Amino acid sequence: MAVDKAIDDSLLMKIPAWWNCLPGFEQMHAEAKLIGEQVLRPNADISDREGVYPRVSLQAIADAGFGAVTVPEEYGGLGAGCSGFAVLAETFAQYCGSTTMVWVMHTAAVQTLFMAGSHEQRLRFIPKVVRGAVGGLAFSEPATGSHFWNVVSKAPRSGEGYMLNADKSFVTSAGEADWYIVETNSPESAKADKLMFLIVEKGQDGVEAFPFDALGLRGNNSGPMKFKDVFVPASNRLGEEGGAGYWNDIVIDPFFLLGSSACWIGIAQGAISAAVEQAKRKVHADTGKSVAGYQVIRHEMAKAQILVDSARSMLYRVADKLDQAALKGETLDSCLYPLWELKTHAADIVIDVTNKALQISGGRGYLRGNVERFMRDGRAGAIMGPTNEVLREWIGRTLIGVPWLE
Ligand SMILES: Cc1cc2nc3c(=O)[nH]c(=O)nc-3n(C[C@H](O)[C@H](O)[C@H](O)COP(=O)(O)OP(=O)(O)OC[C@H]3O[C@@H](n4cnc5c(N)ncnc54)[C@H](O)[C@@H]3O)c2cc1C
Repeated sequence: MAVDKAIDDSLLMKIPAWWNCLPGFEQMHAEAKLIGEQVLRPNADISDREGVYPRVSLQAIADAGFGAVTVPEEYGGLGAGCSGFAVLAETFAQYCGSTTMVWVMHTAAVQTLFMAGSHEQRLRFIPKVVRGAVGGLAFSEPATGSHFWNVVSKAPRSGEGYMLNADKSFVTSAGEADWYIVETNSPESAKADKLMFLIVEKGQDGVEAFPFDALGLRGNNSGPMKFKDVFVPASNRLGEEGGAGYWNDIVIDPFFLLGSSACWIGIAQGAISAAVEQAKRKVHADTGKSVAGYQVIRHEMAKAQILVDSARSMLYRVADKLDQAALKGETLDSCLYPLWELKTHAADIVIDVTNKALQISGGRGYLRGNVERFMRDGRAGAIMGPTNEVLREWIGRTLIGVPWLE
């Protein structure tokens, strides 16, 4: 089969636009593609090879108006909800996984600041975020690993604020973010849940970030951080002293699970699209066939694309449901179960799909380039907390009707 010769257009099956993009978000999708092609893709390779933080790509995203995408318009945000967040993250990830993961963490941090923050905190931080200031989430600790809801660090009261001491194992944008939401414990809290969120700003004394030298997502500086005797004024406490588990359930988890799933789906789509293009271009002189001309290869493409579309269908359905819940004034924890399934599936399929993409691309796919980068980047999904093992356990416990968290 010669896939490169001119074919009568009327004979081609057209994939409906709604299958690839949530209806109503086509314009946003097109804008994200443009940024992806013009800025994210050209910078992705240097970020990956040299571990360069994707500052240029992040600024381009903010300049396009996507710095506070889920924040309501009256606070300077875009008011695009979870659906806009999902469409953008999925599209950006088709070009650069590192940039997308930074932006996903940033957006989750911004939404948490918006939801848990006071009016004064919103006015202080959101205009900066809209201009390009980056937020990060410093949650996971070496002591409790991926169980980020069980951190052991503490920030006792000290004068007009708190004295924070915390070791964090992985923080996306470590040393690069303009502000971090640090999850810690308040020993003085009268609540059963001692978790507390503190905002630590760039340049504060006692904050140290360490390098990130990893298999993939190499540009996103997800290294460890130490917060040693960091004074945090009470005006930088988000929400109350203790009880932050509530914000984990209604903001952090929904936004991280949705946004990261979109990232894994976008990476999978980026890989399979690149592999299909390569397979169409490469022609064997002896058989006269392109690689795409072999039926077995086309079947692998089809299997990979069906996996991507199954995860994307879940993504858009959950995103839409989250927006409907928010419109009705419901908290987003009502969607946690579907989000667990979504993240587990997206993080599983990205491994399978990128592996298929590499196989389809042959030796070319094994060389340094887009396809192998997508494979390395996507591998992070299953190990980022809540990990796929933990999520499957929560899903299984729910199925048999016992409490999901022991
Ligand atoms: C690229 C990247 C970016 C990250 N960014 C951030 C960030 O911005 N902020 C942040 O706070 N954290 C971040 N993390 C941390 C992440 O969310 C996890 O905490 C981390 O990847 C888990 O690593 P660990 O070695 O601590 O896992 P561990 O918890 O030690 O897990 C090791 C293994 O045990 C399994 N396991 C753990 N608990 C259970 C259980 N209860 N039941 C069954 N199996 C279990 C896991 O699934 C895994 O296979 C990032 C991680 C990566 C890789």
